[in-house]
Amino acid sequence: MPADGSGLNGIYSVSFRSLPGGALCSCSTSLRGAELTLTALLTVFFFAPLYFLFDAAGHLQPAVFGGLCAGVGAYCLMSMNLVLAARPRVLERWLGGLDKLYWVHKWTGAGALVLIFLHEQIDLEVKGQGATSGLSELAAEAGELVFYPLLVLGLLSLFKRIPRLSFEIPYAWWRLSHRFMGAIFAVGVFHQFFVKLPFDNSTMISAYLTWMGIAALAAFAWTQAAPFLQRRAYKVTSVDRKPSATVIRLAPQGRPLKQAAGQFALISFARKGLTEAHPFTVSSQAGSDEIEFSIKPLGDFTRRLRDTARPGDTAYLQGGFGRFSGAKSGKRQVWLAGGIGITPFLALAGSLKADDNTDIDLVYCVRNRSEAIGLDRLEAAATRVPGFRLHLHVSSEEGRMDAEKLAAKADPAGAGLWFCGPVQLRKSILKGLSAIGKSPNSVHFERFEFR
Ligand SMILES: Cc1cc2nc3c(=O)[nH]c(=O)nc-3n(C[C@H](O)[C@H](O)[C@H](O)COP(=O)(O)OP(=O)(O)OC[C@H]3O[C@@H](n4cnc5c(N)ncnc54)[C@H](O)[C@@H]3O)c2cc1C
Repeated sequence: MPADGSGLNGIYSVSFRSLPGGALCSCSTSLRGAELTLTALLTVFFFAPLYFLFDAAGHLQPAVFGGLCAGVGAYCLMSMNLVLAARPRVLERWLGGLDKLYWVHKWTGAGALVLIFLHEQIDLEVKGQGATSGLSELAAEAGELVFYPLLVLGLLSLFKRIPRLSFEIPYAWWRLSHRFMGAIFAVGVFHQFFVKLPFDNSTMISAYLTWMGIAALAAFAWTQAAPFLQRRAYKVTSVDRKPSATVIRLAPQGRPLKQAAGQFALISFARKGLTEAHPFTVSSQAGSDEIEFSIKPLGDFTRRLRDTARPGDTAYLQGGFGRFSGAKSGKRQVWLAGGIGITPFLALAGSLKADDNTDIDLVYCVRNRSEAIGLDRLEAAATRVPGFRLHLHVSSEEGRMDAEKLAAKADPAGAGLWFCGPVQLRKSILKGLSAIGKSPNSVHFERFEFR
C-alpha cells in the first residue's frame, strides 16, 4: 500500500491515495494510535512466545537460537496477520477504523516476511536434533517447499506497483495472493507442529504456538465465509447515469444493512463482471431502508456497472465499515470534498438536525458545475440547519482550490478538518494552510485503499 503519510501538528498523520484518472479517495487516520496498538500487539504476540522460547531453547548456539526466534516470530506475526484480516469488530473499534486495522495487518505481514526469510537462511540442524522420523522430515521439507511461494505471494501483497516499471499489480492478483495465504499458513502450522524442535510438544511455547495456529486458521476460514454469511441481499431500484457518477439506489430484500452516516459498504452484483465486491461510501442519509451509492466510472468494475446495471438487479452488500463520522472533533468543523469525495458528506449533511449545535462549513470542489452531485440535498441541509453552510468551488470559474481560497470561504484555523478528495488537493491544502498560519486543530481522513 503506497500510502504516503505526512505529519500534522505532530499528532495526526494523513494518508491518501489517488485513484486512476486523478480522482480521489481518502479518509482519516491517526497513525499514532495504530503504531501504539501495533507495539502493544507485538509485545503480546511476538515477545511473549520468545520469552517462553528462551526458557525452552536458550541453551542453543546463538545463530541457531536466532534462526529459531525468527521462525517463531514469523509464525506469531502471521497468526496475528490472519486474525486481523478477519476484521474483528472489537479490533476495528480499538484501532479506530478499518483503514488502520489494514495498516497494522500490512506491516505485520511485512514483518513476518522478513523473519521467514531470515529463518530460511539459517541452518537449524542441531547436533542430534535433526529430523528423526518420516513425519518430521516431511514437516521440514514442507516448510522449505512453501518458502518461495510464500515469498512471491508476500511480495505481491506488499507492492502495488513493480518498482521502476510503471506496472500496477492488478487488484485481482493481490486478492488472489491473500486467498492462498491461509493454505500456506496451514502448511506452516504442520511444519511447526511436526518438525523436530529443540524442545518437545509439551512445553509452554509449543502449546502457545499450537493455539495461535488454530486461532489464525479459524480466522482465515471466517474471512472466506463471512462475505457469504454476512451479506445482505438488495434489489436495484434505480440507476441514474449523471455526468460524473452513476447514482444507484437499492432496496433491501430482507434485513437492511446497519450503517451510520459516512460509512462504506462492500458491494457486488449477481451480474457477469460485477460479482467481485468493491467498496463504496453510502451517499444516502443513514436510517432509511433504501440505500444509495454515487460511483465514479474509473476502471473495469465501475465502468461496467455504469454500462450494465439495471433496475431489478440483485446486489449483495456487506458493512457498514469505517469511522468517517464527523464526531469527536468539536463543534467547529470544515468539511472539504474534492469531486466524488462528496459521498460521505452527502450522508453526513443529511443526518444533521436543525437543532444541532453545529458550526460546519462544507467546501465542495468540482471542475465544473455539471460535475456536482447531490447539490439540491446539500442546499436543503444548509437551509434546514442554521449552523451548516455550503460553499461550491468551481475550479473552471474560480481557479484551482488552494489554502488562501479555502481560508477565505471557511477559515480552518482551530477547526477539525474532514477531508475526502484527491491526494494532490490534500497535500497542497495542508502545506498551504501551514504556510499561512491557518492549520486546523485536527485533520481526519480514512484510507480509501485496501492494499
Ligand atoms: C473505503 C472506500 C470507499 C470508497 N468510496 C467510493 C465512493 O463513494 N465512490 C466512488 O466512486 N469510489 C469510491 N471508492 C473507490 C472505489 O472502490 C474504486 O474506485 C473502485 O473499486 C475501482 O474499481 P475498478 O475496477 O472500477 O477500477 P480499477 O482501475 O480496476 O481499480 C482502481 C483501484 O481501485 C482499487 N480496487 C480495485 N478493485 C477493488 C476491490 N474489489 N476492492 C477494493 N479496492 C479495489 C485498487 O486499489 C485499484 O488499484 C472507495 C474506496 C474505498 C476503499
